Amino acid sequence: MPERLDVLRLGYRKGRDPRITTHLGLVSRAFGADGFFLSGDEDKELFSNLGSVSDRFGGKLDCNHVSGMSYLRKHVENGGVAIHLTMYGEPFREAIPKIRRDKSVLIIVGGAKVPGDVYKLCQHNVAVGNQPHSEVAALALFMDAWFGEAASVRQFEDARLVIEGVNNGKVVHDLSDDTK
Ligand code: SAM
Repeated sequence: MPERLDVLRLGYRKGRDPRITTHLGLVSRAFGADGFFLSGDEDKELFSNLGSVSDRFGGKLDCNHVSGMSYLRKHVENGGVAIHLTMYGEPFREAIPKIRRDKSVLIIVGGAKVPGDVYKLCQHNVAVGNQPHSEVAALALFMDAWFGEAASVRQFEDARLVIEGVNNGKVVHDLSDDTK
């Protein structure tokens, strides 16, 4: 079985974070993650919204609510690689070549307050620029650099809707029409 790449979003707050957290899930799926895990509040609706994107545009994103710190601890104990995205970290383009790819990878994105243990547990604390900005931007840029061009030209074999990128207008192929 190929090694996995999952994204863990820490400290989710259902009252405040649904939109940005949905965007983290969408970036995870579109740029090639196998799973998107949330710690903090549970939110079935958020997972169902992500599921409906996969139903239409293909791919399979495992979505789970987890206990963040214990999930991270177990991941590392089991030999996994943990990459924490933080503005205090090592510049991502310097860090990526040093990160091993033969183990399952967990990318950790912080919430309102990141526990200090996250910095210690993760083998890699990685910055996308050493300025505070957005978790969505940090994740997208990191995944683009991690996967290279494959990140943004990814095709999903089981897609029902496939967009053909054009300069003018919108071209969407509905593959379910082909079976009629
Ligand atoms: N105040 C929080 C803390 O205790 O560090 C950070 C809040 S920030 C809006 C939320 C998340 O965005 C961070 O935990 C980090 O994962 C990500 N992030 C923000 N700026 C980043 C940067 N320059 N490089 C990497 N990740 C970044």
